Amino acid sequence: MEPLAPSLPSIEPATLEWRDGQPVSARFGDVYFSRENGLEETRYVFLGHNRLPDRFSSLDEGDTFVIGETGFGTGLNFLAAWQAFRDHAPSGASLHFVSVERYPLRADDLRQALAFWPELSPLAEALQQQYPPLVTGCHRLVLDGGRVRLTLYLGDAVEALEDLSFRADAWFLDGFAPACNPDLWEQRVIELVRTHSRPGATLATFTSVGRIRRGFAEAGFRMEKVAGFGHKRDMIRGELPVSARQSCGVPRCILVVGAGLAGSLLARNLAERGVQVTVADQGEGPGAGASGNAQGALYAKLGVQFNAQTQLSLAALLHAQRYYPLNTPDVWHPTGLLMMAGSGQERQRQQKFLQQNQYPESILRPVSAEQATTLTGVPCPDGGLWFGQSGWLEPARLCHNLLEHPNIKTEFGFRATRLLPCNSRWCLSGEGRQDLVADAVVIAGGHQTRALMPVVGDYRMKAIRGQVTALPVASLTAQPRAVVTGTRYLNPPMGGQVITGATFDLHDPDPQERLSSHQENIDALTGMLPGVLREENPAPSATGRVSFRCTTHDYQPIAGPLVNGEGQVLDGAWLFTGLGSKGLMWAPLLAEYLADCLCGEPLALPKSLAARVDPKRCLAETVTTSRIA
Ligand code: SAM
Repeated sequence: MEPLAPSLPSIEPATLEWRDGQPVSARFGDVYFSRENGLEETRYVFLGHNRLPDRFSSLDEGDTFVIGETGFGTGLNFLAAWQAFRDHAPSGASLHFVSVERYPLRADDLRQALAFWPELSPLAEALQQQYPPLVTGCHRLVLDGGRVRLTLYLGDAVEALEDLSFRADAWFLDGFAPACNPDLWEQRVIELVRTHSRPGATLATFTSVGRIRRGFAEAGFRMEKVAGFGHKRDMIRGELPVSARQSCGVPRCILVVGAGLAGSLLARNLAERGVQVTVADQGEGPGAGASGNAQGALYAKLGVQFNAQTQLSLAALLHAQRYYPLNTPDVWHPTGLLMMAGSGQERQRQQKFLQQNQYPESILRPVSAEQATTLTGVPCPDGGLWFGQSGWLEPARLCHNLLEHPNIKTEFGFRATRLLPCNSRWCLSGEGRQDLVADAVVIAGGHQTRALMPVVGDYRMKAIRGQVTALPVASLTAQPRAVVTGTRYLNPPMGGQVITGATFDLHDPDPQERLSSHQENIDALTGMLPGVLREENPAPSATGRVSFRCTTHDYQPIAGPLVNGEGQVLDGAWLFTGLGSKGLMWAPLLAEYLADCLCGEPLALPKSLAARVDPKRCLAETVTTSRIA
């Protein structure tokens, strides 16, 4: 009997049988690759018949080559393509591999399957390091210092191809034999492959079934039957006619307004893709606004319903947990994080959440009060959810470090007065400063974004005051070794202090630090963790910082093209804001997504999730605005 499929967001893993050290699918009764020599078969069928070595070597610096695949399986094809790309492509070109997988291999199985190919081991290790937990949806892996990107959609191929935004130059059609797995070879899949193909795209597959060859021919591919690998007599390959080579119009220089987390992560992402970036900010340095706190926690509040909103938060959390340890290890502290139940209401919510969803333990697990106390090092009156891969960061230092890149120029103390389109470019004027001109502009100005927008329009954003409180370690009865969150958060010590906060003051523009806010933080902290503070009230001598978070009417972030009141896009102008108090969680994935949009690459967010961050949704419906110049 087949095992029961897990509840969402978990996805059913592949069940493997091992024959002579090689994996066979128990479900499909078929091999993952040829038993004669899987790697040679991949090179012959997929690399050779898509002419990849030649096409890789004729790429120009700055080009991106996109491969689409049906059936990621063990990742052998991906690694072989990556290896060939390393061997043949110029160093400034990049490879983007988009693959789908309905029954992903467990991490241990993947390791065992790839151990068969010692020559691929450095690449296999890099893949394993970032291989996602087995939850449904789109996962973006950035490998080889950004030279290679993998968009891995865990889910059914049709659903994936309908939801993803990309166009491929070559296809690896590798979903078990049509006789074992007819679903993956339906005409709908063929049509979707065609839709996601660039002019001149090629395809290759080990099968030679006539119906499939005719299906692709009807979709517009010139099809050809050629000799198969090893004992297989035939296989098929195909090619779409080439139209004139299209220029993808990638902007060469981009202006980012705002040097907080959003702006800094985006600037760095673009710079690593070879784009020249100018970052302008009114502050005297990076992270002058809400991103300037010394400590911040990486956490997500995942909804009881596994809907698009929860899926987006989960994707962002997992991406952030991949991004920080690899890219910014010196400011990332992977201590783990407790989301304490605390109140009866939150306890009930967590119970429902656990009943209705199935998350892998590597993402989160329920813990008792006793376990919570052991994990965090502070006496916890209640249990909660433990996020073992989370932790805390130093946001101010992070912004600073990210902007240190030869392709990034910074303009601090730049008080922007006007942003206008000029000759298909964008021009930003600032008090007493030379104008800044770029091919595209991204406004990442936190709560000041609205003032910078070159459209008259009512975007539903609001600023929420937040004051954090720093307490000397000596005022605590126990030192936290992990982040504790609930009605407040408490971070592990840094520089002899711990930070707790933050207040959430609606309609309060007061920029000054005040005693009443410190008292509020301290009262909430002692309510959450009674006994964590020594007797004496530390509020009068506490220090802290005030900043303003930018949130939207639906508390979802904004990342996408700027539109005017009629919903028309202003070419080359983009928004990146509304991250609320979860900037550390949102910013890495949304920076990746926006950089994809700006560079014309496969998008890190499928359409269903991209819609949730689209600026258009924030326009108040009643407002009429006009397009400028
Ligand atoms: N390319 C893989 C490699 O390099 O190891 C081998 C792929 S294996 C022959 C076929 C894969 O297609 C399996 O991993 C299987 O789970 C997956 N698959 C089958 N039906 C699918 C579907 N409807 N949607 C997505 N993936 C599917």
